[in-house]
Amino acid sequence: MHRRITGRLVIATHNPGKLAEMRELLAPYGIEANSAGELGLAEPDETGTTFIANARIKATAAAQVAKLPAFADDSGLVVDALDGAPGTYSARWAGPNKDFTAAMTRIERLLQERGATTPDKRRAHFVSALCVAWPDDHLEQVEARVDGTLVWPPRGSAGFGYDPAFLPDGHQRTFGEMTSIEKHGLPPLGLGLSHRARAFAKLAEMCLEPA
Ligand code: IMP
Repeated sequence: MHRRITGRLVIATHNPGKLAEMRELLAPYGIEANSAGELGLAEPDETGTTFIANARIKATAAAQVAKLPAFADDSGLVVDALDGAPGTYSARWAGPNKDFTAAMTRIERLLQERGATTPDKRRAHFVSALCVAWPDDHLEQVEARVDGTLVWPPRGSAGFGYDPAFLPDGHQRTFGEMTSIEKHGLPPLGLGLSHRARAFAKLAEMCLEPA
């Protein structure tokens, strides 16, 4: 039985960009959201080996301390020809300076080494895992993905992370060439294209009611 999210919710992130995006997604549901950063909650180590496990670690840690339901996400890029790398290490591949040009260059070098030069050998997908944890240990979790191919050189300056190298299936522009509404927005405003938009739509259907 799914549990509805009502009233107050902690967003278990210290990342201002993610916080803004999550608040925007939750606003139509009348949810009052505080961030783990605003509540002074510590950031747990992401020791899981899957996206869902890491989302769960962040959500349960925040729910236990804040004594409120807590919402967390984990996401990343999975490249088929690299046996799923960078996967849950997607943020870490950019290093402490968050240098995603270096991370995309590293992926390209590894693809070239493996002779992955045609689109069919350059398949990749983004994954988004979302988890809501309650203080009584109830959990709701969802995962969604968006499939595509990696292009080189990267194209576009919109978005973040690996966006400029990712061409979603059925489109001619990379995520780096799309507006945020096209990429993340839910219908009727956007296409509900991104992994995060798709995961959020699933979670909303299970746990949220329009205000
Ligand atoms: P997280 O904060 O552990 O979820 O880190 C996810 C990492 O995956 C980010 O730092 C990005 O490198 C990458 N990533 C996740 N979602 C996206 C996206 O929508 N576009 C580009 N990169 C993404």
